[in-house]
Amino acid sequence: MPLYLPHFNLQNYNTLASPVCAEFFVAVKDEAELLAALKFAKEKNLPLLVLGGGSNIVLHDDFAGLVIHVQFLGKELVREDENFYYVKAAAGENWSDFVDYCLDEHFYGLENLSLIPGNVGAAPIQNIGAYSVELQDVFSELTALDVKSGLAITFTHEACQFGYRDSVFKNALLDQFIITSVTFKLTKKPNLKIHYPALQSALADENEQDITPELVSQVVCDIRRSKLPDPKQIPNVGSFFKNPVVSLEKLAELQQKYPEIVYYPVDTHQAKLAAGWLIDRAGWKGYVLEAAVHAKQALVLTNPSRLKGSAVLVLAELIKTSVTKEFGVDLEQEPRNYP
Ligand SMILES: Cc1cc2nc3c(=O)[nH]c(=O)nc-3n(C[C@H](O)[C@H](O)[C@H](O)COP(=O)(O)OP(=O)(O)OC[C@H]3O[C@@H](n4cnc5c(N)ncnc54)[C@H](O)[C@@H]3O)c2cc1C
Repeated sequence: MPLYLPHFNLQNYNTLASPVCAEFFVAVKDEAELLAALKFAKEKNLPLLVLGGGSNIVLHDDFAGLVIHVQFLGKELVREDENFYYVKAAAGENWSDFVDYCLDEHFYGLENLSLIPGNVGAAPIQNIGAYSVELQDVFSELTALDVKSGLAITFTHEACQFGYRDSVFKNALLDQFIITSVTFKLTKKPNLKIHYPALQSALADENEQDITPELVSQVVCDIRRSKLPDPKQIPNVGSFFKNPVVSLEKLAELQQKYPEIVYYPVDTHQAKLAAGWLIDRAGWKGYVLEAAVHAKQALVLTNPSRLKGSAVLVLAELIKTSVTKEFGVDLEQEPRNYP
């Protein structure tokens, strides 16, 4: 039987270090414990918050419900074919440790996603991405428990409906499934993706034959450490906003006024603007209110005084309003707010 802890302070369970309380908190290590927790919530009529590493949520106030901390562990090679290894990881595995494990085992494809905080179970929720690779590029399938029926369901790639920082679990199936494991399709031979500008320039002096997945992972970690604050030192949730996608007409209009605007091509109709550039250009980099805009990366909002997440949301609203006014572009928040 899992232990239900009442009036539980979540400060150490979210990377913004928001000191809010959950009415109940439970850690679940396997499916039987998860089913028991769901029964407990149903009997007491409690809303649920499913928690991984807490690195993509804003807890702005106390949560009158049950927080389920998914702690399922384990990883295994489930099958292989001529070109691929299929590797399954339980939802509670730390993402960054899993990437390191795969590199050690020579399972390739995750190197660009090195050092992203959080756990495996949350990675498909927003289709994590970095340095031109997204989870969907290496995804095979996942298993998830239906909150209502308690049945375990397998989701194929197609069923997950992945998009840019998006999936079916943020839309049609919001809050309906708890992911218990994810299986990845990883290559036997290195298949390097190093065209992202920062990665390309960091590797510019290397001989082509010396560029290995291990080196790419190391360079990605170095770049990340140089520009992103470590949440343990300065609480944050990484990028606070998504990069807004605009039409090429809108891009051309902005380029007239701001020739140096930073963007990434999406397709023949659209481009993605660098939200960090917009926020920086609107004058917010380094701004300090109760929360702050990180001095090295304007896309990251920090909570240095470890206040409730509402302090960060106040700053986020000011930034959104100012970016809309300056550029006519609406920013969308990436981390989810609770309650
Ligand atoms: C410094 C920093 C850098 C970051 N860099 C990146 C980056 O480069 N790219 C990127 O994409 N993200 C990045 N992030 C965001 C974050 O790391 C990812 O979104 C990560 O996948 C969140 O994992 P988590 O376990 O912490 O999720 P949590 O914050 O615990 O949860 C996120 C959401 O998923 C739900 N959830 C969690 N686990 C499950 C589960 N098992 N089943 C169902 N729902 C679940 C939660 O209810 C919540 O809605 C960064 C964050 C930080 C702090």
